[in-house]
Amino acid sequence: MKHLAPTTFRAFACAAGSCPDSCCRAGWEIVPDEETLNLYRTLPGKAGERVRAGIIPAHRGGHQPPAEPEEPLLRQNDARVCVLLDPDGLCHVQRNFGHEALCRVCREYPRFHREFGNLTEHGVSLSCPTAYALAVNAQLEWETWEDQAPVVPNELDPEAYLRLRRGRELALELLAREELPLQRRIELVRRLAASMQAAPEKRIHHDWALRLRRWETGIRARQAGIRGRRQAAVGAVIGRPPDTCYLSAPDRLAERFAGLEILSPAWEEKLAQFRTRYKNGSDAQCALLQTDRPEVYARYLAYSLYKYWLDALDDGNLAGRVERSVSMTLLGLAMDRAFPGEGPFLQRISREIEHCEENLSALLR
Ligand code: SF4
Repeated sequence: MKHLAPTTFRAFACAAGSCPDSCCRAGWEIVPDEETLNLYRTLPGKAGERVRAGIIPAHRGGHQPPAEPEEPLLRQNDARVCVLLDPDGLCHVQRNFGHEALCRVCREYPRFHREFGNLTEHGVSLSCPTAYALAVNAQLEWETWEDQAPVVPNELDPEAYLRLRRGRELALELLAREELPLQRRIELVRRLAASMQAAPEKRIHHDWALRLRRWETGIRARQAGIRGRRQAAVGAVIGRPPDTCYLSAPDRLAERFAGLEILSPAWEEKLAQFRTRYKNGSDAQCALLQTDRPEVYARYLAYSLYKYWLDALDDGNLAGRVERSVSMTLLGLAMDRAFPGEGPFLQRISREIEHCEENLSALLR
């Protein structure tokens, strides 16, 4: 099996008790796997009893009391914090029985893995503050490796996969162009996705790559003082910078997110505050989309597209996925600007959206 990952994947190490925003407080519903539940049934002593008390058992047929879910869950307190989290920020299971005793979800988070034919892609979710800091503070770099793991047969359409993968490479290359304003980079990626979706049979990414090469030739020509046709090629790709509010004004973005399932009361409060302050739109709120730290947002968006772009293999909805990632990025930017020192809001938004299928699908629509 071949493997691909951003370098942050192997560099990540959990901050445990010093984490500023622990995943155990995120309010996610964690379903422990069967193997872990079997282990938990055998854990000895009072420490083992506490682990068992931290599981809400699944309902097994007959009359269903409202307190019993369809699947077993890790129990949370009223503030939606996992009851197995100790006051010092460490996990009771890990402290007493080791990392391997964690259920699969807790053991793996924030890492994710996805298989495409003979390639497994790995990454880290930016809902984790440690992974987020690693990702946005350095250029996105990659590593590849191979091992003897068997390739599991699947129904991947090789042509569609290669086309989407090349399109994604191009999108990430565009986002890394620090010489372009952030808004312009985002707009180019949106247009690339929309054109690829509108003509799935065409080699759009190939045309775009050619245009990009021409643009680079134009830049070099301009630097060398050469005028004429080459300069026209530059203008054709770069064009005029778009309006700052070209995609959606922050109040409209916030409205979309307010209609989603809210996982954390603190996020609900902040979003409501933002909506009250910026309701009815205004030119001033468009200034919230300007930043002197464009690379933070470009890198976040690149990570998001790395994670979700290839999901368009399932339903062809590439533009919808790009819009979802762009909306999350722009709302994060606007909220970072509106509430300085209270962010990073991109990490908080990831936390609300990325681990809740209902929220992911609602934003896709
Ligand atoms: S959010 Fe990340 S760093 Fe914090 S406890 Fe969870 S995995 Fe560790």
